Amino acid sequence: MSSPIIVIGAGLGGLVTARILSMQGLEVVVYEAETSIGSRAQGGLLDLHEYNGQLAVRAAGLWDAFLALVRPNEDAKRVVDKAGNVLLDHPGSTDGTRPEIDRGDLRRMLVDSLPLGVIRWGHKLTSISTTSEGHHELQFANGHRIVTEVLVGADGAWSRVRPQLTDARPDYSGVTFIETTLADGSGRYPAAAALVGDGTLIAPSPGQAVISHRHANGSLTTYAAVTRSADWLASIDLDDPEGGRAEIATAFADWAPPLRTLVTESDAAPTVRAIHALPVGISWARTPGVTLVGDAAHLMSPFAGEGANLALLDGAELARAIIASPDDTEAAISAYERDLFWRSETFARASASNLMLFFGADAPGSVAGLFQRVLS
Ligand SMILES: Cc1cc2nc3c(=O)[nH]c(=O)nc-3n(C[C@H](O)[C@H](O)[C@H](O)COP(=O)(O)OP(=O)(O)OC[C@H]3O[C@@H](n4cnc5c(N)ncnc54)[C@H](O)[C@@H]3O)c2cc1C
Repeated sequence: MSSPIIVIGAGLGGLVTARILSMQGLEVVVYEAETSIGSRAQGGLLDLHEYNGQLAVRAAGLWDAFLALVRPNEDAKRVVDKAGNVLLDHPGSTDGTRPEIDRGDLRRMLVDSLPLGVIRWGHKLTSISTTSEGHHELQFANGHRIVTEVLVGADGAWSRVRPQLTDARPDYSGVTFIETTLADGSGRYPAAAALVGDGTLIAPSPGQAVISHRHANGSLTTYAAVTRSADWLASIDLDDPEGGRAEIATAFADWAPPLRTLVTESDAAPTVRAIHALPVGISWARTPGVTLVGDAAHLMSPFAGEGANLALLDGAELARAIIASPDDTEAAISAYERDLFWRSETFARASASNLMLFFGADAPGSVAGLFQRVLS
């Protein structure tokens, strides 16, 4: 390899790839569209699993730094019905096998672990062309242009790199999240905070759900999840802060008051997030010198809680394969992709089937049963 490995995207997948490659002295540069680490709120908690996310953190040599950021007790899970009756109550722990960490803290830990200059902020990839030598010429919105032999697309759901490998595009899952936030929820909305408990509350019902998390500082972040058509989504004005509020006030009108509070009150304008997924079992034929990690490779709905975990593991596995054969990156990428495809298909299938459990006719009992199995 005569040129540095180029990673597009400083999300979890791209950062772990770069961290492990640079630990071994391989030259890597990460191009990120955002202008700095603080330019977008990262929000949300992630629980990292022993069989993927945690393995990647260990491979990156960051286990102790990670443990220092774990939020004790926030792995508590509670499932209630729409009237607020508790169906499952799983207490939090300080040494759980699925430790919860703030997504922003995890990303910052990875950014801080990289040598200065590895990440080039404010570089949004706009197009890719192939040179006569079969290398990849990258054009960025700020005018920067480079050529590389090895290109890693870690650029998330709407990847610009993915079309080099496949025509597959994410499809709308039929579920839309409307996100609300309440600072000092414990003090201002005690009944709602008490129902949420120490960690995550899930209140599913056929066709809709409330998913809320209480953070250590007492703030509450909630997703009001509704099943709606693509036509409905197209009709929503995403820039109208009142649009989302009116929709959820109607949809959750007959829910228990604390649950209604969680979805109708918000300090900031609610954020609308349409949940998309790539086809289950997505794969592609080998194209020399280019591959994908994380959501770019296998975007799935969040109902199995695996997307970030897989992005981390993908990054670690790709870096491991390249380190094992640095002079034959084609062999390395082929080996990486062989496992990537079956691994992501397994979890994409689980995510799709959990989505049916969350919103199907048997909710909330189906979801209480799911968590019973996962947590026992
Ligand atoms: C509501 C919700 C809840 C979730 N909960 C969980 C959970 O509990 N557990 C879990 O494991 N997963 C969860 N996920 C999934 C998880 O968020 C993703 O799978 C994970 O963030 C993917 O990481 P990534 O690095 O592949 O992509 P991203 O985190 O999306 O990072 C991609 C990066 O690429 C950059 N980028 C994009 N385009 C360009 C470009 N053209 N040029 C340069 N840079 C670019 C972006 O700015 C971004 O920084 C959830 C997802 C959602 C939507």
